[in-house]
Amino acid sequence: MHFHIMTLFPEMVQNGLHTSVIGRAEEKGYISVHAVNIRDYTLDKHNKVDDYTYGGGAGMLMQAQPVYDCWKALQKGIEERKTQGNTMPHQTKVIYVTPQGEVFHQKKAVELSKEEDLIFLCGHYEGVDERVLEEIVTDCISIGDYVLTGGELAAMVMIDAIARLVPGVLNNGESAATESHSNGLLEYPQYSRPEIWHDKRVPEVLLSGHHANIEKWRQQQAIERTKQRRPELYQAYLEAQNS
Ligand code: SAM
Repeated sequence: MHFHIMTLFPEMVQNGLHTSVIGRAEEKGYISVHAVNIRDYTLDKHNKVDDYTYGGGAGMLMQAQPVYDCWKALQKGIEERKTQGNTMPHQTKVIYVTPQGEVFHQKKAVELSKEEDLIFLCGHYEGVDERVLEEIVTDCISIGDYVLTGGELAAMVMIDAIARLVPGVLNNGESAATESHSNGLLEYPQYSRPEIWHDKRVPEVLLSGHHANIEKWRQQQAIERTKQRRPELYQAYLEAQNS
């Protein structure tokens, strides 16, 4: 799967995503992460990419031209790659990360992990000129109801969550299947060695080797934890069970 990120701070994205699990997945060729500097596409002789907003108001706005030309170059590269590989070219999803979008969740991550390419547009300053958003953006997604200074962290959060669902990225495919939010519940508590730490014992059932009992205990714990910590998820889980 190929991630393309349109940003004014490519090094921030590259540095953030080139470590640990995602970095290794890229080295092994399961994913690629390609950050493109929008500034490289400006036609302004002073290399500017932002300007004042019409109608007044605080802050600068990213202009349409460099964003549009950056997207066109990316889209052209993707189409050429697909034509060489005999895959039908189609418009790649362009995700504008914005506090005005639908809030990101695990189901969306699963859906997006099935795409071959994804383009992320990271805004900065006051955001991006609406006209270019209307022309190129297919999805507006927020990572939560708060405002960041730029879209880079939001894109990195989403790419991390999506990339780990791409087959091969996690060593153990099982772990994604049992994690929080994969089945509407939070994950059960987990323990590692030693058996006793600070006078706290690992629950006896986990040492029993009885797989059916362990599964039953984990399911009960997951339900209890979800009920306590996320009552709205618990309600949705109950409704899904009864429907
Ligand atoms: N003026 C915009 C508004 O009120 O909706 C906020 C602009 S914000 C300071 C700058 C950029 O950060 C946005 O264009 C967006 O790309 C990114 N951003 C900020 N908060 C975000 C969030 N919660 N989720 C995703 N992206 C966010």
